[in-house]
Amino acid sequence: MPELVRLGQPPLAAAPRAGGPRRAVFVHTFGCQMNESDSQRMVELLGRRDWVPAALPEEADLILVNTCAVREKAEQKLLSALGRYREHRARRGTVIAVAGCLAQAEKERLLRRVPYVDFVFGPDHLAELPEMVARAARERFAETGWMDSEEYLFPRADPEAARGRATAFVTAMKGCDNVCSFCIVPHTRGREVSRPAEEVVEECRQLSAVGVREVTLIGQNVNSYRGGCDFATLLRRVAALPGVARIRFTTSHPHDLSQALIATFREERKVMPHFHLPVQSGSDAVLARMRRDYTVAEYLERFDRLQAARPGIAITTDFIAGFPGESDEDFEASLRLLERARFDNSFSFVYSPRPHTGAVRRLGSAPEWAEVPRDVAVARLERLQALQRRLSASALAARLGTEVEVLVEGPGDEEGWRRGRTPENHLVHFAAAADQAPAGALARVQVTRAGGSSLSGELRGR
Ligand code: SAM
Ligand code: SF4
Repeated sequence: MPELVRLGQPPLAAAPRAGGPRRAVFVHTFGCQMNESDSQRMVELLGRRDWVPAALPEEADLILVNTCAVREKAEQKLLSALGRYREHRARRGTVIAVAGCLAQAEKERLLRRVPYVDFVFGPDHLAELPEMVARAARERFAETGWMDSEEYLFPRADPEAARGRATAFVTAMKGCDNVCSFCIVPHTRGREVSRPAEEVVEECRQLSAVGVREVTLIGQNVNSYRGGCDFATLLRRVAALPGVARIRFTTSHPHDLSQALIATFREERKVMPHFHLPVQSGSDAVLARMRRDYTVAEYLERFDRLQAARPGIAITTDFIAGFPGESDEDFEASLRLLERARFDNSFSFVYSPRPHTGAVRRLGSAPEWAEVPRDVAVARLERLQALQRRLSASALAARLGTEVEVLVEGPGDEEGWRRGRTPENHLVHFAAAADQAPAGALARVQVTRAGGSSLSGELRGR
């Protein structure tokens, strides 16, 4: 029986039972925030059954690799990580399990390909982890079926595990109903299911009660949320919680960017002025082949409305270079879009053909689906990233001399330094003692240096 817990039940103790043996779990996470959040839930679930986190894989009784399947490189990274963990299994009988999107896509194949993997499970089976660990003593298996949307219960976060932290992820929905032709996510994460709004708000309330100040609502396509209200209403309900100071969310599809959501950015100051709005390409022809459902003009119209609603908002994006049939002109259009939008930052990738996707089925089938040679795609990516580095550096340089509000997240990289983020999500380092700027405090910092990807400054007060 899966251990699914509804909100409203008393929290389960995370501590081991008295006298019970303590087993240690090491989690290696690849990929997005959804995976990071799933990994936290897995550790919490095991924590209710006598498990403790291991700092190193060599100390673990169970190694869990939580995978990403978005690009092929992720697959190679998984195989090389598993190769490293193999010796621990041989030496101390460590159980090795593979979770996440690649597990879902590969199923039993992964057990055949990697004989020292003990079990494999997809995202819908996360809550059964303690039972699966027990089962692994008897057999090797793959659990990758889907749960009915009506039956699915979101694993509850354990607020106690977040005590002492300034920020936390809260799952708002899972899956994706879109059909972007490059993307494997609908295949690995299944149909969209929204978590009931009451559960989301209650989890945020519980997190704020243990000191969390900033919540990030997450989902593959979070702005298409439909958990009893729309996404804009959900944001307002979370914002009404007195203990929550900052709200973020990720990630959003441009065609679900509603007027109501834009109005929330204008009116609700707790919703931080940062929006990740992946565009993928600056060419309408490429966007149509990607099945993105918007043109560049439509994207920019929404982009402009967001900027008008919240002047100074930092808008970030994703680009793919070398999508099938992308011509030099198509790529130049992506560069022009980058210049026009002056994105605060962007994440860009070379197109990676993925199984079970529309684009891979059509690759090479017609001139407009011609494969872009890898060296051409890589050269385009480098130009895109070089331009973005200049734009990001100039966005950061514009903050020099200003005073920014920083939510302190914890120690910086060096002794005597602290680290936190501005409302626009820029990373800031500043010299201070832990008691001057504890995690969760809102500090005022004067920016004295702007680097390529972060700011540093002097503490002015709180
Ligand atoms: N749901 C988000 C959206 O609609 O924009 C994106 C989620 S996806 C996991 C994150 C990013 O990975 C995408 O925005 C895209 O740029 C990139 N990506 C996805 N599939 C890819 C592929 N096959 N090759 C290269 N990049 C890919
Ligand atoms: Fe993938 Fe498109 Fe869904 Fe984003 S919206 S997860 S890119 S299919």
